[in-house]
Amino acid sequence: MYWERVSEQIYLFTSDRYALVNSVAVVTDRGIIAIDGLPFPDEAKQIARFLEVRTGADFYSLILTHHHMDHAYGLFAFPERLDVIGSELCRQRLLEVGEASLAEARESDPAFEEVTLRLPTIALESGEFTLDAGNKTLRVFPLPGHTSDNIGVMIEEDDVLITGDAVMAIPIIADGDWEQEIETLERIREMEPDTVVQGHGEVILRGEVKTVMDEYINYLHCIRKEAEVALKKGRDRKEIWDIPLERCGLERVPLGIASHQLHVANILSLYDRLKAEREG
Ligand SMILES: [Zn+2]
Repeated sequence: MYWERVSEQIYLFTSDRYALVNSVAVVTDRGIIAIDGLPFPDEAKQIARFLEVRTGADFYSLILTHHHMDHAYGLFAFPERLDVIGSELCRQRLLEVGEASLAEARESDPAFEEVTLRLPTIALESGEFTLDAGNKTLRVFPLPGHTSDNIGVMIEEDDVLITGDAVMAIPIIADGDWEQEIETLERIREMEPDTVVQGHGEVILRGEVKTVMDEYINYLHCIRKEAEVALKKGRDRKEIWDIPLERCGLERVPLGIASHQLHVANILSLYDRLKAEREG
């Protein structure tokens, strides 16, 4: 895990063990607000301890952007008394699949034994929610696409947008909705925040936001085209595995070894959907 400062009162923590997933902490007059936790218990506990020691502040609240394990599990490391702000959809998804997937994770890695799921206690049905923390105002609102339950957090005073996985170094829609994700990325491009903290990967800085959103939107259009071509030409799933990430404009391997796998899962999910639509 490594950390950096996004601004004087905003800390970013990135896992070097799980697809560069990010966790954010905002130090406010009311205390520390943590947004998502990293998946591995030792990293999550390290963050909680780091914040306590470095800031000397109390914790004020937690925010969970969506139900995926790499964002949800680490919240266990923060004080139990804290509310968790999230969407009602997130609460429902965790109720439906949370315990089963945690059991699976524990089986593959006993380190997850100490994780207990934290469900949203302040669950947003729809629309916006504003958290007034004195010197900081956090506006929480839906950013669906990667998953239907994903929310974003705008720190108004800093013009910093924390997107959860609505923005990732490779946009992932295999568990979500392609159209919705494009709409969300277009919306963020229009919002033109000063800084975007994406769910996975590097911080997107002032002046880069539009370009990067365009790159991600182009990527999504490109993978749809790849899925359409594969279907039309009767290619099988094995051949889809050979479509490189670079062909859709993402030149690096931004999320480590999992990058290609995630990219292929994207195309396959579109391929399956188009195929089902075609077969009626
Ligand atoms: Zn996710």
